[in-house]
Amino acid sequence: MSARSRARGTLLLAGAVALVAAAPLHAQQVATDSANPSIVSLVGRLDLERYKATIKALTQFGDRRQGTARNRAAIDWIERQLQSYGCAPTERLTYDYQPTPPGPRVVRGPDQAVGGGRLRGARRPTRVNVDSLAQPDRTLRALNAPPSVPGQRQEVYCTKVGATHPDEMYIVGAHMDGIGWGEAANDDGSGTALVMELARVLSAPDVQSGRSIRFVLWNNEESGLDGALAYVAQRRALQGKETPAGSGKYPEPKWLGMIQHDMMLFDHGMPHPDSSVSKTQRAEADVNIEFQSDSKQAESSQRLAWHFAKANERYATDYPAAVGQHMTNTDSHPFQDLVPSISLRENERGTQIGAGWDPQWHQPTDLYSTYNDSDFRLGLNAAQTTLGALAELAGVTLK
Ligand SMILES: [Zn+2]
Repeated sequence: MSARSRARGTLLLAGAVALVAAAPLHAQQVATDSANPSIVSLVGRLDLERYKATIKALTQFGDRRQGTARNRAAIDWIERQLQSYGCAPTERLTYDYQPTPPGPRVVRGPDQAVGGGRLRGARRPTRVNVDSLAQPDRTLRALNAPPSVPGQRQEVYCTKVGATHPDEMYIVGAHMDGIGWGEAANDDGSGTALVMELARVLSAPDVQSGRSIRFVLWNNEESGLDGALAYVAQRRALQGKETPAGSGKYPEPKWLGMIQHDMMLFDHGMPHPDSSVSKTQRAEADVNIEFQSDSKQAESSQRLAWHFAKANERYATDYPAAVGQHMTNTDSHPFQDLVPSISLRENERGTQIGAGWDPQWHQPTDLYSTYNDSDFRLGLNAAQTTLGALAELAGVTLK
């Protein structure tokens, strides 16, 4: 045996040993990478027409601006829907909101995006529309006319209580308030309807979850994440406390993760050089899962994000997912230094939405009628992604 063939023999032997050792590991790999049939069947209970109908129903309350009667009516309606799904009892968090003058302007470089990313390519300007006359629909203009009044605010949530770990939970959220003189159909009717659909599917009597899952419809996101901030301020210290002692009840289970959904429908690509944006969903459209690399929970948030990306491959029917590290400007922000936190969106918030990729953002054109089934299906795929990932993480089973 030459030195070379002996070396090859050793290599072959090493390869064989590695194969034997790797076999069970590989089998395990296959098992965790493949879809769980009962989760597939659960995800199959999500339905495009139901998702669209819930978004459409939310638009009956116009822009649902915080601090108005139309906002309160929307909360009442959402609460009744959650109850009808069996996600009961519903609860409300009450807080006071007084607008404060904006802080000092953050100075950024010309290519620096909010959240830490770098802007590339063509951009179009973004702003919040404050001109009522920019809304040509007189009925909608009148509905959105009463202004926001400072004072008491509420936001609604309900919980699927864990069968084996009622003291631990994942928080699934979206904001129900909007702005800009439209119908806030995408921002954030699309996320609100997604969370409501997950509450419906997971509240079915034949669904059991090991850990608890809370569905929260934040208020006051558009004013500066005030509803999520109020939740963290009021409930953070209550985590994991059995109340009353010995009851087996945990009003605020320990937070395991926070998953936010904000603008789920529109991924039509970068603006053209003339500032126009394509009328059709781009063929490469994807669900953007973001964590914040500058947060104290960056490592665990990143793992959560990758788990969601894998769940997308297993359970989402049409659109893939992409992970990014610049989560920003949404209700997961107040959680990001405390627990693993991610947001799901149509695009990256900083580098893409911030560069004008969504021309309806905070505009009178954010209407149900603006979107078509390719757009709505992107939101549905985000719902499939979150439901699949959550079912695995929380230990959801079908009885
Ligand atoms: Zn939003």
